[in-house]
Amino acid sequence: MDTYQGIAASPGYAAGPVHAIRQRAIVPVRRTVRVSEVPDEIKRFGKAVEKARSGLRELIDRLASELGPEGSDILSSQLMILDDEMVWDATLAVIRLERINAEAAFGRTMGELAARFLEIEDETFRERVNDLRDVEQRVLRGFEDSDRPHLVSPDIPSVISARNLTPSDTALLGRNNVLGFVMDEGGNTSHVAILARSIGVPAIVGLKGRAVALKSGSQVAIDGTDGRLVTDPDQEILEKFILLTRQQVVVNQKLEHLKDVPAVTPDGHRVEMMANIELPVEVEEALARGAEGIGLLRTEYLFFQHQTIPTEDDQVRVYSEIVRRMDGRPVIFRTLDVGGDKVSDYLGAKREYNPFLGWRGIRFSLANRLLFKTQIKAIHRAGASGRIKLMFPMVTGLEELREARQVVAEALEELAAQGLEHDPDVPVGIMIETPSAVLAADILAAECDFFSIGTNDLIQYTLAMDRGNSRVSYLYRPLHPAILRSIRMTVEAGHRAGIPVGLCGEMGSETRLAEVLLGLGLDEISLHGAALPKVKQVIRWTDFTEAQRLVDELLKLGTADDADRWLAEYIAERKRQRERGDHE
Ligand code: PEP
Ligand code: MG
Repeated sequence: MDTYQGIAASPGYAAGPVHAIRQRAIVPVRRTVRVSEVPDEIKRFGKAVEKARSGLRELIDRLASELGPEGSDILSSQLMILDDEMVWDATLAVIRLERINAEAAFGRTMGELAARFLEIEDETFRERVNDLRDVEQRVLRGFEDSDRPHLVSPDIPSVISARNLTPSDTALLGRNNVLGFVMDEGGNTSHVAILARSIGVPAIVGLKGRAVALKSGSQVAIDGTDGRLVTDPDQEILEKFILLTRQQVVVNQKLEHLKDVPAVTPDGHRVEMMANIELPVEVEEALARGAEGIGLLRTEYLFFQHQTIPTEDDQVRVYSEIVRRMDGRPVIFRTLDVGGDKVSDYLGAKREYNPFLGWRGIRFSLANRLLFKTQIKAIHRAGASGRIKLMFPMVTGLEELREARQVVAEALEELAAQGLEHDPDVPVGIMIETPSAVLAADILAAECDFFSIGTNDLIQYTLAMDRGNSRVSYLYRPLHPAILRSIRMTVEAGHRAGIPVGLCGEMGSETRLAEVLLGLGLDEISLHGAALPKVKQVIRWTDFTEAQRLVDELLKLGTADDADRWLAEYIAERKRQRERGDHE
């Protein structure tokens, strides 16, 4: 029995046999063709592409019926690669000029494209390489005569292991008999992680060779919540995982009754519970978990799903759908937050030496005013379908807020002049995620309607630790005195100005921190849907005054270690008290 640590990509537990997927990659054999054969090679290429295209369309239909239209969007981008003129032109040029067979010419074109993408040190591009490989293999299979599927689904409930699964492989496998995924490559934002979350099975990625080493039929236990893979688990571990799975189901069932009750403490303090979402497909999960609204819609993900910039009307369609489905509950639209680790070539945000300190968030939007105004117009138009709010990322000072508000004013004038239906009165807020925004919170609060604290970036910038660098990830300490003080200062500044203060960083999803966030006086917590019921439960158990006392104690401590220890003891004591109470 061995345990390996990977990246937790989709929460939950599973235990069972491995279903290893060894993708048989087709390596095209190069052969020279005569001039007279060139037209035939071009025809063969066209036919192989057509076969790949119809296979993809079938898969898209299937995914759309299982996951909704957003699930299939992932594969739509592959269709675009197939139709990309550059891919066609380069392949045809190689066939004509070098007189080699179509499959070898195509393989070379895709190989060169993938190599260029891999040179770019950016997760988004690495994930695009996966799409390129997928399309390449799909077309190469199109040259073969047989139509046998290259992937075999498991006959019995199994854990799927692979080096990496392409989105279409994942779709081909479907949900049947899939207990979970373990993968050597990929990150939290890779397509397979998104799909695993949307079909509700655990996934671990980034296992660096451990996943392909697994043999079909061998037993594993996977913990997608903490990213742990256990190979050949002994009976004790197996039973523990089976128990954890059952507990998970029971806990979720037990928490279901909380769906429609508010997060109110026994002494009457109310916290608004909202959900963070990236894609429209997550709306149902958010509602099922009792979200009172969307506290953070990361709109950049909607852009990343497309190869070209979505038009205003395209955006209105997607945004309105989300607003409609939220049925009167507020949706906080965060305007594009590209740059940093979220670079998209077509948006023109280029790789930089120090990307997190570079051209990102509101800086990027203000420099691309037309794009920014178009998005703001689309968001206001979606406001005609329900309740919305507008939020700007990465604000460092009043100049940016004022300039962004100026763009809003222009957008509103244009909408009125065009006679387009929209909400003219949308509250405007900002993310507090830079130390300067914390220090200037009182100044900023005077000119906006709400704050939402983005602790992922706030911790990164305050503690000077790159949030994507695993070497310094140990410095991610939400209970560091500087972070606790920053949150407190922000809440106090907001409240003095009479505006609500929420929090939408990952810190909100950590159940152990729920009392701390309550005691810090946050009006709203926005978190992953799956984590929402547990955090709400803790709030409903805890007196606000008691949580405030806890925070006062934590603020007296000098180190994050001391604060972690103090909190752990406090939680253990509270548990003992509850258990005693249950027995009495
Ligand atoms: C944050 O920084 O805490 C946040 C919620 O935004 P993102 O993670 O998208 O940067
Ligand atoms: Mg952020």
